[in-house]
Amino acid sequence: MRIPRLTRLRAGILLLAGILVLTPSFLAAQSSKADLNWNVHDPTRPMATVVTPGTPSTEEKAGSPPSDAIVLFNGKDLSGWISDKTKGPAEWKVENGTMEAVKGKGGIRTSQGFGDCQLHIEWRTPDPPVGKGQDRGNSGVFLMGIYEVQVLDTYQAQTYADGQAGALYGQFPPLVNPILPPGKWQTYDIIFHRPRFDKDGQVTRPAYVTVFMNGVLVQDNAELTGPTSHKARPAYKAHADRMPLGLQDHAHPVRFRNIWVRDLEKPAQ
Ligand code: MG
Repeated sequence: MRIPRLTRLRAGILLLAGILVLTPSFLAAQSSKADLNWNVHDPTRPMATVVTPGTPSTEEKAGSPPSDAIVLFNGKDLSGWISDKTKGPAEWKVENGTMEAVKGKGGIRTSQGFGDCQLHIEWRTPDPPVGKGQDRGNSGVFLMGIYEVQVLDTYQAQTYADGQAGALYGQFPPLVNPILPPGKWQTYDIIFHRPRFDKDGQVTRPAYVTVFMNGVLVQDNAELTGPTSHKARPAYKAHADRMPLGLQDHAHPVRFRNIWVRDLEKPAQ
């Protein structure tokens, strides 16, 4: 049967319109669904909470966080951080507004736990660089202590793709590699949604991670298969809704500064 040209054209337009309308809501469905209790443009709907934005960092100076962020590192001491090894005070070096991993002192973690969050963190690998592959400016940002966003000097340096900077270790290589040379401050802006478990400990929704590295999207709502691991792909095990954020001691003097988090599970004030 021959379909009139006009009908085909209309069908095409309708299909395109459908895709355009449905795509944003589909993308947004992961963490936020439209609240249909409100009418479109409802004048009684409260406007968003006012937040004073932070200021960007420069190479010399760390910027400031937005007004509703929790500052995780004040540049002066490691209050709010504990040692993975001793469970006592964190023993990394604090100098010139930065903290530096100290070989043998172990990873550190926040004393406070977080679930869904927006995390900003800046890191710098040693200059001149030392070592090769994974043995070169290695550290890591561990969301909930078990989901690693890799920190590594992969500036003109080789390693396995799912272990380079910006990777979700062992699971997702970064989409691109926007890394700066060693000795330069690099930024991660991470949006994390923790996994959800039912009362029997089964996953009802996996964890999702979005990462901007130096302002460039490197992880786009990546769906984690479970905790990240070396040479393994462990399945999820039910865990608490809030767990500490960790930084890795991989025996390299990697520095961090300007660490802040916005808690996405607390209602706006
Ligand atoms: Mg690492």
